Amino acid sequence: MSASNHFGFLDEYAKKEIRRTALKAVAIPGYQVPYSSREMPMGRGFGTGGLQLTLSLLGKGETLKVIDQGSDDSVNAVNLRSFIEMTCSGVDTTISTDEADVIQSRHRIPEKDLREDQLLVLQVPYPDPLIVVEASENKRKTLHGEADYSRLLVKLYEDIVKFDEITISHRYPTRINDHYVIDPSPIPRWDVPKLHQSPALVLLGAGREKKIYAVPPYTKAEPLAFEDVPFRVEDFTDKNGQRRHCQRCGCTTSFLDEFVDSKSGEKVYQCSDSDWCNEQMTKNVSMSEIKSISNKVNTMEVANG
Ligand SMILES: [Zn+2]
Repeated sequence: MSASNHFGFLDEYAKKEIRRTALKAVAIPGYQVPYSSREMPMGRGFGTGGLQLTLSLLGKGETLKVIDQGSDDSVNAVNLRSFIEMTCSGVDTTISTDEADVIQSRHRIPEKDLREDQLLVLQVPYPDPLIVVEASENKRKTLHGEADYSRLLVKLYEDIVKFDEITISHRYPTRINDHYVIDPSPIPRWDVPKLHQSPALVLLGAGREKKIYAVPPYTKAEPLAFEDVPFRVEDFTDKNGQRRHCQRCGCTTSFLDEFVDSKSGEKVYQCSDSDWCNEQMTKNVSMSEIKSISNKVNTMEVANG
């Protein structure tokens, strides 16, 4: 059977194994379940872990959204989407977060709150947060089993001593359901609180490292921190204390990407989540339209009255 007419590219045995692994991951929140990651027709490190999860879980008639750094149009997202379109006949793709049943993402969680009927698949390069403090996988397994994260906490403490704050910007170690600490993939700190009590199931897949783990719906997800140095997300206030806004849609509540304006040479900011940005634009346009229509009606009433 050729890749083009076999639904989901992977053979049925491989898909079953990945589904079983995902079930185990849900049953033990945050535990990295090993699986026999298959060769995919793309390099390891290009999201093969996320892709294998998506291909195993997606069904005919469902709708998929693929994003990379919040954008549906970046190279990684476009290539993964076209591969899935090619190998999963009967699956629709969308750029709308609302319309998607399954969302595969690299480096972001959508700005919009996800629902119970949605599934988020995150692509993971390095699944084990303990790798920075312990080289041996055997020893890391024991530390995870005993929920002994003291060396990770020492690492965070060293950051505070050196820089007065915890400097981790991405892959912030997060404790799931009061036990296992996970690497939540390279999402910014901004997205970490979205894992906490998320109505949607979050599955994380590391293809090269052959691990799958999960944050099940409505599960506790707490970033590691200290009582006197609490966790905080990125700060988007400018030097005058004003919250920076998206230069495109004007949103002041989203995660912003920084750009340098090629003409003025000044820093400008834009929503990282392109679907969110488009939606805010539409809302702003319709609000201004409504205002102009109601103004016209008022003027007419005044003229008629
Ligand atoms: Zn925007």
